[in-house]
Amino acid sequence: MKYRLPRVVHLGLGYKIKVALVPQSFLRELADDDDEQQNYDGIWLDERKTIYIDKALRASDRREVYWHELIHALNDTVAADRPRPKVL
Ligand SMILES: [Zn+2]
Repeated sequence: MKYRLPRVVHLGLGYKIKVALVPQSFLRELADDDDEQQNYDGIWLDERKTIYIDKALRASDRREVYWHELIHALNDTVAADRPRPKVL
């Protein structure tokens, strides 16, 4: 399948998140990491409701990272929706 990653994902119940392809340098900034050796494939930031993915990755890797981060997004969304979040 050759679908592009979505830029916005509607999770239902009024929740939506964004997906952004960004350079590695930006991922390091988001991770607040000064280590130039450390690479990040992707990061989910709950406070921005955005999944960031390394744009240098090939398409199949981007998809894998997308699914991984989407599960983080879902878990955080579920937890935020509960008065007393249980174990994730
Ligand atoms: Zn993870």
